[in-house]
Amino acid sequence: MPHKFGVSLAATGLLVAATAVAALATAVPVSAASGTPAAKGHKILAGKIVGIDPGHNGKNYTDPSFLNQQIWNGREWEDCDTTGTQTDGGYTEAKFNWLVARDLAAILRKDGAKVVLTRTSNNGIGPCVNRRSRILDHAHADVSIDIHADGGPAYGRGFTVLEPVADGPNNKVIKSSLRFGKYVHQAFLRYTPMKVSDYYGHNGYIFRNDLAGLNLTTMPKVLIECGNMRNKADARLLTSVHVQRQIARALAMAIIKFLTGR
Ligand SMILES: [Zn+2]
Repeated sequence: MPHKFGVSLAATGLLVAATAVAALATAVPVSAASGTPAAKGHKILAGKIVGIDPGHNGKNYTDPSFLNQQIWNGREWEDCDTTGTQTDGGYTEAKFNWLVARDLAAILRKDGAKVVLTRTSNNGIGPCVNRRSRILDHAHADVSIDIHADGGPAYGRGFTVLEPVADGPNNKVIKSSLRFGKYVHQAFLRYTPMKVSDYYGHNGYIFRNDLAGLNLTTMPKVLIECGNMRNKADARLLTSVHVQRQIARALAMAIIKFLTGR
């Protein structure tokens, strides 16, 4: 769940994105995310740095005053972080985000990437969203992904790719983020059972100008809402270890395609 619903700049860019995605509905190579070296002695992501931001943290709920600190997100003041959402059964988004991030990090490392995470367990508090962005910026990541799951209306299902809007710090990475977002969208449809959102954004995309993670980024980045934890069918999928691995693999495939063209 992002920090608030805020403004959705749904206009023309989205339609462009949707059309481009339809045009780009081509095959994504399957071999790369298996950890197989592309050639003898050469791993496909060697020399690449990938940032992963698993949203929220497992103990955020214990410290409201920490979460309520106001941070500058590049455009306005925003809460440091939130607790995130959870399923009706009490499976937390923080845990889901962390498990997918851990699986994704393992795949990327096998493929030779250096991986930078914004938190190292699901037993802590924070960091604040602006700090998460700065950690990845300072690591000079080539591409980054913010991993979340939404707390939408119970009737709604599906995943949404949240795209940055130009605001200064991120001006140079808007187009590349759009391209990366298309690959994430494609990979979700191809490698996971998650559907395109039927309640949020347009065709699985939305532009957000009110999130530190997207406003402050200096490398290509999108935020993925992997599904809706408040929906029964999505919750069943999101809490499955098998589906979590499929999601991690999909994200890895999108990252590999973005960084290598394969
Ligand atoms: Zn979230």
